Order: sequence, then structure tokens, then C-alpha cells
Amino acid sequence: MKAELTGNNVRANCPDCDGVITTFESTRSGSSFGSIIIEGKLSFNGIEHTRVLYILLRCANCGRGGLAKVHDSGNTSHNGHLEWFLPNSVDKANIPNNVPEDIKSEFTEAEECASIGAYRAATALLRSCLEKTFKVNGYTSGNLAQKINKVCDDGIITSARKNKAHEEIRVLGNNILHDEWRIVDYDEYDLSHHYTQRILEDFYDDRVEVESILREKGVY
Ligand SMILES: [Zn+2]
Repeated sequence: MKAELTGNNVRANCPDCDGVITTFESTRSGSSFGSIIIEGKLSFNGIEHTRVLYILLRCANCGRGGLAKVHDSGNTSHNGHLEWFLPNSVDKANIPNNVPEDIKSEFTEAEECASIGAYRAATALLRSCLEKTFKVNGYTSGNLAQKINKVCDDGIITSARKNKAHEEIRVLGNNILHDEWRIVDYDEYDLSHHYTQRILEDFYDDRVEVESILREKGVY
């Protein structure tokens, strides 16, 4: 998940708790762990704030320390906005064990990019995962859009999945590679990540069945 501010605390994946989501507390028994406060008007995400705070926190579960950069206007729990939180944690999705190593590596690297907020790079790598998955399964002719349609026509992915593959992976990935620079946010990455994982499952969860379809359709 993307770290989020809840009151004066932060909810985030803790790397020392095997990546599970925990609460990082800014106080213990009513005392703050401490913060650095810089006064001054500054705009963050289009909203003007009067302070920047660097807040020390610790995982309520294991005690690991954390640091949050927050913008507020005098009251973090009411008008605070989290800019970033450390430690970064890689939010890993489960993919089938028999996914080829190169695709698995690329998928993992996308997750690592996302853990440091590099969502453009992450999403471009997910598009590459999709293309490589099709290629290794015998879908080598035509462009990526045509390959997605063919994989659906052959019955490996559903029509609903096909639409998501176009919208959330292909088009977004193409925009990143070929269009003018723009911010890609966590939610866009998250959708692309989710549907790439689903397509890897479509191809590799029931491999015997998929290989039978591929042979029947003459692509394998
Ligand atoms: Zn922890």
C-alpha cells in the first residue's frame, strides 16, 4: 500500500514485520518521539500549508523507527498531508511459481521502483512484462493491442480482462514511453500492477490447460 497519514500516525507496510501493514506511532504513553518543524507557507499538492514537519515514528508491532515528511497548517491530525514516509517497503503480489525468471524479475523490479515512488518506471516495466509474457507464449506477430485481442480470442483471458489490459497496462505504458512527460500516480500504478498479476495468473496458474489451448490454436 501507499503509506498514509491517520491522525498523527502513519499506516504503512513494515519491512521488519515481513511487509505487513502496521501503524507507525508518533507518540508513546502521550509523549512524542520528536519532530523537526519548519515554519513557512508552502504549497503541496495544490494546497497551501504553513508548516513542514519531519516526524519520528515507530512501528507499533516491532518497534522499528520511521520518518515522515508532513505538510500541515498547525494541526497534523486535522490538516496534515503526508509527502513521504521511510522506510520504503516493497508491496509484493503473489505470482505463480512457474512464471519464467526474466518476467518474474521484471515484475519484481517494477514493485521495487514503486516502493520508492518511481511509478512511471514501474508502470513501463509492467507493460514490458505483458509484452514478454505474450512473446514467450508464442504471440509474436502484430502490435501489443493486436496481441491482447488475440489472447482473448483464444480464450486465455476474459473479455473483461482484455479491456483492463488495454486500458490499465497498454495505453498507460504507451503514454509513458511515447507521450510527453506527466506524473503517474500510485493509483494508476496499482491498477496496472493488479491486472499484470492477474494476466500472469491467467497464463501460469493452470499451465496444462493453457498449453493445451496454445497448441490447439497453433501459437505454441
Ligand atoms: Zn514492524
